[in-house]
Amino acid sequence: MTVYLVGAGPGDPELLTLRGARLLSSADVVVYDRLVSSEVLGFVPDSAIRIDVGKVPGQPQKQEEINQLLIEYGRVHPTVVRLKGGDPFVFGRGGEEVLALVDAGIPYEVVPGITSAIAAPAVAGIPVTHRGIATSFTVVTGHRMAGQDDVDWHALGRAGGTIVILMGVSRRAEIAEQLMASGRPFDEPVAIVHRGTQPEQSVTPTTLEKLASVEIEPPSVIVIGPVANLTL
Ligand code: SAH
Repeated sequence: MTVYLVGAGPGDPELLTLRGARLLSSADVVVYDRLVSSEVLGFVPDSAIRIDVGKVPGQPQKQEEINQLLIEYGRVHPTVVRLKGGDPFVFGRGGEEVLALVDAGIPYEVVPGITSAIAAPAVAGIPVTHRGIATSFTVVTGHRMAGQDDVDWHALGRAGGTIVILMGVSRRAEIAEQLMASGRPFDEPVAIVHRGTQPEQSVTPTTLEKLASVEIEPPSVIVIGPVANLTL
């Protein structure tokens, strides 16, 4: 009996790992998130129990309840797959689920996935690093969590390199403001990749100064830095 935390990748089912696909097709139970595409769920056999713990923004299913579900199913079924968008350990709360499983004495395995932080820019032709242009990239959440210090945007701005923001759509005005205050140029290139690798994919190029006024929707990755202009 094992609970597998499987990364579903950014959406295109071709970008699921072979191990992920194999585990899905032999799963007894699949517990999945909102960001997992229906094509990826196509690997799951009809006989499997499917549980949608889809987190509606603003009213998330309690993490504690999800942990409890994994423990209960993990005690009974041989192959439980906890399927998460992108990579399970990139803002996916996978770590918390692993801790709960360890506490309950349930064996687990993590199957990494392709994170949207790199894949969404990539399919828009944006390399997060590029010789002579960007020697580093930082992946950061734009979402401010209660009871947790906010990202130090000034330090991040001054550190240079590409900034990749997940969950940043609603706070983009404030973030752009702080990055410009840290010394990032007003005309610093920005690209917003919406639903990267999915049929609805769209790319919106802009600048730091105009980021607040462009119309964009979640789920999107915001890429900030000179690489955003490359679009190879
Ligand atoms: N574990 C996931 C991230 C979960 S946080 C991963 O590794 O990709 C959810 C955020 O990821 C979304 O708000 C959005 O910013 C980003 N995201 C996930 N899938 C995306 C996609 N296909 N295109 C653009 N952004 C995506």
